[in-house]
Amino acid sequence: MRDRREGERLGDQREPDDHDLRDLARTFCEKEIKPNIERYIADKQVDRELWRRAGELGLLCLSIPEEYGGGGGTFAHEAVLIEEQARVGDSSWGASLHSGIVAHYLLAYGTEEQKQRWLPPPMATGEVVAAIAMTEPGTGSDLQGIRTKAIRDGEEYVVNGAKTFITIGAQADLVLVAAKTDPDEAAAGISLVLVPTDTPGFRRGRVLDKIGMKGQDTCELFFDDVRVPTSNLLGEKEGEGFVQLMMQLPQERLIVALASVAAMEFAYAETLRYVHERQAFGRPIFGFQNTKFEMAEIATEARVARSFVDECISLHVAGELDIPTAAMAKYWSSERAGRVVDKCVQLHGGYGFMEEYPIARAFTDLRVQRIYAGTTEIMKEIISRSLPEPA
Ligand SMILES: Cc1cc2nc3c(=O)[nH]c(=O)nc-3n(C[C@H](O)[C@H](O)[C@H](O)COP(=O)(O)OP(=O)(O)OC[C@H]3O[C@@H](n4cnc5c(N)ncnc54)[C@H](O)[C@@H]3O)c2cc1C
Repeated sequence: MRDRREGERLGDQREPDDHDLRDLARTFCEKEIKPNIERYIADKQVDRELWRRAGELGLLCLSIPEEYGGGGGTFAHEAVLIEEQARVGDSSWGASLHSGIVAHYLLAYGTEEQKQRWLPPPMATGEVVAAIAMTEPGTGSDLQGIRTKAIRDGEEYVVNGAKTFITIGAQADLVLVAAKTDPDEAAAGISLVLVPTDTPGFRRGRVLDKIGMKGQDTCELFFDDVRVPTSNLLGEKEGEGFVQLMMQLPQERLIVALASVAAMEFAYAETLRYVHERQAFGRPIFGFQNTKFEMAEIATEARVARSFVDECISLHVAGELDIPTAAMAKYWSSERAGRVVDKCVQLHGGYGFMEEYPIARAFTDLRVQRIYAGTTEIMKEIISRSLPEPA
């Protein structure tokens, strides 16, 4: 598998200082994350200090303009950090959600005041960590059916409801909440509201126990008469939340697609090393034709997925990634990654089932890629709607 730094697959879309960023991200992930993964898993969250350290080094909000405290780069820069995090086998740190998703809602729809308040210090420096809360106990795929309300009362919104499965839920200082400002409407009633987590009435549930991504704090959140100023509405008008979500979800799905490809490459590298080291019947298990064929398939699958996702990244950087193509990338890469990592576990034999082996962790971590940011079935629904009628 080619190293991206040697391969330059993003070619023109990458900035000239890309190698410096790659080196910085690699060193950060090797030194600050890799030695601590076991602790993150035990604590069910990363150290809060990790966010501040990343902020200090300029690794947060890489694709946010410099005037808002970001790195002034593009999605290709976010991609470097996502790839390097995958390279050390970490799934605990939710940086791609904070920088690649929540910060971009603010950038795209926030008022100037909201951008200035939240993007430069504190979000770009890691002093404030941000989450996005769409999913509720009663609804996930069917976003129009959310029941959390943000009802206007004078100069405030009163937020009531419950959210679940919220990434970085335990650490978040700011939550972008999808809520109905008009409960009588479906999609047209949804707005996004910024809720600082020190607002009275906001409460976190416990960190949920998951089968994978155990070092990431996924939480339930509760809103009981939480009052925020109407200036916390994202954007200028109520009822725009659903469209805002639809416009931003392609980037979220591209992040999942890229993370899936990077995980495939990680699994491939781990397994290639293992099959050369492990002996059976007097030879390395790579000596068996079956192992060679499986490795050949894994290498091919990963490379095909990488090509497609790199193409999508280039399209996205050029502002041309459409909703169905992002759905294709998410569907294809996450499903393929599941298949590839399953083969890698098999090639590890019993060790592939032991939690201390990175491949076992990759197997359980990857399962959710087919579920969150829209399930595979929803991706297929989106893709099928874009297919042309026969002439
Ligand atoms: C670890 C983790 C982290 C997450 N992080 C966040 C977060 O930060 N913020 C957030 O808001 N959410 C988050 N989620 C929630 C996630 O996005 C939802 O779980 C996901 O969208 C699916 O919703 P659901 O769980 O309600 O499943 P459901 O919508 O109940 O789906 C159940 C099944 O029905 C299928 N289905 C539903 N509708 C259709 C249809 N129209 N056609 C065919 N099949 C259908 C689904 O594909 C699925 O197989 C996270 C989830 C997990 C597990």
